Amino acid sequence: MNKKLTCIECPRGCVLSVDAENGKLVRLEGYECPKGEKYAIAEIENPTRILTSTVLTEGLFLKMIPVRTSDPIPKSDIKKAMSEIIKIRIKRSIRTGDVIIKDFLGSGADLIATRDCSV
Ligand code: SF4
Repeated sequence: MNKKLTCIECPRGCVLSVDAENGKLVRLEGYECPKGEKYAIAEIENPTRILTSTVLTEGLFLKMIPVRTSDPIPKSDIKKAMSEIIKIRIKRSIRTGDVIIKDFLGSGADLIATRDCSV
């Protein structure tokens, strides 16, 4: 599989040309530094993302509050994570940075609030 990636590790935005076989990087061109190589390997072999979303509240000033994972989680878990997020209801006052779910999906990352919200 031949693919183009844009490295997001710095503003230069190098366009990386990669070949992958069986989920492993086998050829890489276009990177200008070791960060680009590391980025390409991670993106092909174990892509992760910080998940941002909103969760519903009950009895609070806002109907929804924004949340995100404290660290990147596997991209393959995003759909499952969204299925869990839509089930959550926050019923207590919350502050930015409060943990909504610790070790979300066993990923090691917490789901945290990114906005204050009170009753
Ligand atoms: S490969 Fe290196 S120089 Fe190019 S965008 Fe990535 S971090 Fe920046």
